[in-house]
Amino acid sequence: MRLVFFLLFPLAAFAQSNHSHLRGRVMKFPAIPGYLTLTSDLHMHSVFSDGSVWPDIRVQEALMDGLDMISLTEHLEYQPHKDDIPHPDRNRAHQLALEEAKDHDLMIFRGSEITRKMPPGHCNAIFIQDANKLLINDSLEVFKEASRQGAFVFWNHPNWISLSHRPDGVATLTPFHQRLISEKLLHGIEVVNELTYSDEALQIALDNNLTIMGTSDIHGLVDWQFGLNKGGHRPLTMVFAKEKSEASVKEALFARRTVVFFNDMLIGRTEQLKPLVAQCIKADSARYIGKTQVLKLWLRNDSPCPMTLKNQSAFRFHNAGEVIRINAFETLELEVKTLNRLAGLSLDFEVLNAVYAPGKHPFCKWQVTPLP
Ligand SMILES: [Zn+2]
Ligand SMILES: [Zn+2]
Repeated sequence: MRLVFFLLFPLAAFAQSNHSHLRGRVMKFPAIPGYLTLTSDLHMHSVFSDGSVWPDIRVQEALMDGLDMISLTEHLEYQPHKDDIPHPDRNRAHQLALEEAKDHDLMIFRGSEITRKMPPGHCNAIFIQDANKLLINDSLEVFKEASRQGAFVFWNHPNWISLSHRPDGVATLTPFHQRLISEKLLHGIEVVNELTYSDEALQIALDNNLTIMGTSDIHGLVDWQFGLNKGGHRPLTMVFAKEKSEASVKEALFARRTVVFFNDMLIGRTEQLKPLVAQCIKADSARYIGKTQVLKLWLRNDSPCPMTLKNQSAFRFHNAGEVIRINAFETLELEVKTLNRLAGLSLDFEVLNAVYAPGKHPFCKWQVTPLP
């Protein structure tokens, strides 16, 4: 018995330290029914194109962020460091990243950034077999070659305010993009790139059945670019896959099962967004206060994304207004005036930090059964 006591004590101390007010760096989200929730960043650069770091740094950053998979997507047509770092083999950055990751549970997919003027602008091809074979001048032929290699292809930063792209910041489909989509050569679109978000890109994804993507497009250091010391995080794409394998992730990306995490926002289709939010927030320990009709309960956020919820129930709260915020990996005590002592009730919220279409937030319900 004494042994049990000494074992329990440090465990209890550990459980409490989990309730820290600082969000940890690792970004793990709960699984949803039927699928694993895997985290990816499929757009990044190293010195092998216009990035500032060696590929091993990309791997180490991804491991610190707890990502499940990355892709080093060097520009095929833009190679500003090639006089300093000659590399005739365009697969070299991928090979170096693989070597760095060999003892870790991080998947690295071979990818490239097809870098053209508008249209089509820049596109990433992921799961390619050989980057060298994508060095093709003709803009349509390069997409056909990516397709022959089995690539998943998405349109990068369609909202980029470069003067040669979209100085108005408004993502707009061109006839060339429509052709790529109709010929099944373009499968996804970035609604989030680096520090930017595009409602118009989200609408293009919904209207054209494209996969919703968000990436860091990191060139320097993740810590500096996304202000990790101030509670920031890199954008990532959650992929809902049947298992943790390249084939399964590829299937999920083509099937459009993604949610993007950006600046404490969740962006995705309702089919994935609602089950994800339902798994991130749990209601428990509901009990009436004394003999009153005020129910006290805990709302627990099991995710790295702070949740902002707007009350849509018939009941008002005793200790909060209509909008509540539950910080990452924290619990919030909520007192609900149910007017009668109920055996069960539904708490209905609009999830303001989640977006399934421009300006649209999902409505989610949590069933609560008060303890006697
Ligand atoms: Zn680009
Ligand atoms: Zn890029």
